[in-house]
This record gives sequence, structure tokens and C-alpha cells, in this order.
Amino acid sequence: MSLKVLKFGGSSLADANQFRRVAEIIKSEPERRYIVASAPGKRTSVDIKVTDLLYKCYELAINEEDITETFNEIKQRYIDIINELKINLDLNDIFEKIQMSMLHNSGRDYIASRGEYLNAMILAKYLDFSFIDAKKVIFFKEDGTFDADKTNDVMSEYLSKHRYAVIPGFYGSMPNGTIKTFSRGGSDITGSIVARAARATVYENWTDVSGFLMADPRCISNPKPINTITYKELRELSYMGATVLHEDAIFPVRYSKIPINIKNTNRPEDRGTFIVPETDEISEDVITGIAGKTGFSTITIEKDMMNAELGFGRRVLQVIEENEVSFEHFPSGIDTMTVVVPTKDLHAKRADIMAGICKAVDPENIFVEENLALIAIVGRGMVKAKGTAARIFTALANASVNIRMIDQGSCELNIIVGVDSNDYITALKAIYREFVK
Ligand code: ASP
Repeated sequence: MSLKVLKFGGSSLADANQFRRVAEIIKSEPERRYIVASAPGKRTSVDIKVTDLLYKCYELAINEEDITETFNEIKQRYIDIINELKINLDLNDIFEKIQMSMLHNSGRDYIASRGEYLNAMILAKYLDFSFIDAKKVIFFKEDGTFDADKTNDVMSEYLSKHRYAVIPGFYGSMPNGTIKTFSRGGSDITGSIVARAARATVYENWTDVSGFLMADPRCISNPKPINTITYKELRELSYMGATVLHEDAIFPVRYSKIPINIKNTNRPEDRGTFIVPETDEISEDVITGIAGKTGFSTITIEKDMMNAELGFGRRVLQVIEENEVSFEHFPSGIDTMTVVVPTKDLHAKRADIMAGICKAVDPENIFVEENLALIAIVGRGMVKAKGTAARIFTALANASVNIRMIDQGSCELNIIVGVDSNDYITALKAIYREFVK
């Protein structure tokens, strides 16, 4: 039997009107049984998310400043929703408890989590669904990492006792019972965890866009939507994906091969994007999407006979690791090795890293170049299509873009090119135009 888990983002639950839409979506299919709610998001582009207001209250409280105005603003957001929807729910005691906890410097995570806690409570009442507090079903380990096994066992048990339920997103509990949140946007992860525990047929992630686009609309005007993308492809496109779906939201459902459907609350009729384990469906454009990012630097190390020196690469990477910088790629030649790292991480550590590499491998030459942009061209169709790389390079040459770096994994799922940051947009446009019809 089909069972759907739905997660609604902050903009989908920002006010009473959005609550009405959400309820209509949920009630339109009886298999839409478990709902994960975010805190109220922005109602307009200049509005402030409740989560941000809660963080502000926390800051004010620890600096012993007055929280009344900000806290009243938060309260009012919920009161407006309750009044407009005529929900019979009195949250005064809970508001008071939260305000007291702020004044007594309760943890930052506890305070931030109250945004989803309150919103989920209101939604549960409005829908007449059970409310399951995430602290009882989502667990973190002593070291702060997510406890997937315990969560899955306890959550499955709870869900089996409630046919229809709303669960607040974003947080869970530590072994000592205190509240811990995921990173920002973490309600996506909660949705995925619930979908796994419920053995859902699909995890519908409802947001304010109709899925993923083939390229960033800030760089390419009106890019085509992506109908279907695999988990692996989405990981490769993570520069782009993170703005629509939290990067870590893939892992729980990936484990049980549950598809994710990104849907638009304001345009429920749109198909949206399906993120699936595997598919035979190949895009007519060969590529699935293009994503990129500026702000990288390369550290190039040259030394004759490098290829014969056992452990050379490991020693270089060890220096970078010891300086707590994570690298993005490391293309190499016979006598050269290049490590690509985010410029902002390199800046503070540059002198230490350079000195460390010199000491570790005694290179003939070592230099840093900045202003690199990376562009990932991703597509499961590339394995079978001949000439994809040639098309990319020709398109870039015709647009007068110099390629500074190339990297292709042997899985042939992606080709990554590095170009000068000044050429970034030109390069994206040239590649998009070449492939997307
Ligand atoms: N409310 C949290 C945030 O703004 C979590 C979420 O919406 O997913 O980051």
C-alpha cells in the first residue's frame, strides 16, 4: 500500500493562507500520512524567518538585553495563524515556558527548535493529526552525530501507533535529553528520516520552487526544469542542490531507495523533480545539469620524478589535512600535482601549508593561483554519449574561455572544468547553450 511522507518548508507554512494550501494538499490523498513541518518562514522578501528571530532572542538573552519585543514578534506570528484559521489551541503556557527558558539561558539549539515545535503543534491540531515531538523519535549520539539506528527503531515503533501524524523538523535529542538541531535547513533531513522509518513509497519535499533547474537561474535565464535525477547526480551537483534541498537529506532515503519528489506548494499541479536511486530514463540533452561555484585556489607542486616517489601525494594531502582544509580535487601530471581548495579556507593557513609541503616533499617549485571557478557538468547519459567532452571544450573555446583545469571521474558521471572566475558566467552560458535544446 502506498504511503507518503511530506515535508513542508518555512515558506509553505509562513502564514494562515499557506496553512490552508498545505492542508488542502495533505487532505487530497489519504496516503499522505506523515507530515514534517518547518518553522514559519518569510511571508515577503523582507520578512524575517521565525528561526532567525529565535536565534536573535538567544543572542539578546545571553547579552542580558531585553527580549520582549523580539519574542512578542515571534508569538504574534503563531497567534495570527491560530486566530485566522480559528484553531482551538491555547499556547500561552508554552509561550511562557519558552520565554522563561530564554531568560535562563537555555541552550541555543533548544531555543531555535521551538520554531518547528510550535508550528508542528498548530498544524497537527488544524489537520486533526497526532503530534509526535521529534525529541522522542530522533536521536543524536554523545559525540553529536546523528544516531541513525536508534532513531529508525524508535521512530518506526512510534509511527506504527499513529496512522496520521505531524512531526516537527530540524531537531532531536541528545543522550541526556537536551535538544540538538541539525544544521540550517535541517527539516529536510527530518523528512528523509521519517520517510525511511515509515518505509514510505515516496518522500514529497514541498517548497516554493517546482524542483531543480538544469542551471542556476541567476546565471542562465529561464533554465529548463530537471524531471528526474539520481541521488548520485544530485551529489555531484551539490553546489546547486543545497539551495533547494539540504545536502544530508539524501542519505536516510538513499539507504532504502525511496524516491524524493521536490514539489511546489504554490503550484501543486507541477510534476516537480524526482530524485531516484536509478533510472533508465535519459535526458534528451545528454546532461542532467550544470552547477558551479567561484572562490577556489590551486596549489601546484612541481618536482622531477614525482611519479616514482612513493607516498608523495599522501604527504602533500596530509599537510593540507593537518591544517584542517578540505580539498575539492587534485588533478596531477607526471611531475606536477595540483590541489584545489576553497580560497577562504586557504587564506589563513597559506603560509603554514606552503611551509609544510616544502618540508614534507621538498618540491622544485610550488605556487598558488587564485580566482578559479569550478563548473560541474553532470549527466548519467554521458557514459553512453560519445563526444561530450569535445562538445564542452569546443563550446568553451568558441566563447574564448581558457580552461585552467579538467577533472573527470572514471564513472563518467561528471566532467569538472576550472576556469578563471571572470569567465565563470560566460562559460556556464556556453555549456548550457551547447547541450540544452
Ligand atoms: N527552520 C530551520 C531553518 O530555518 C530549519 C528548516 O527550515 O529546515 O534553518
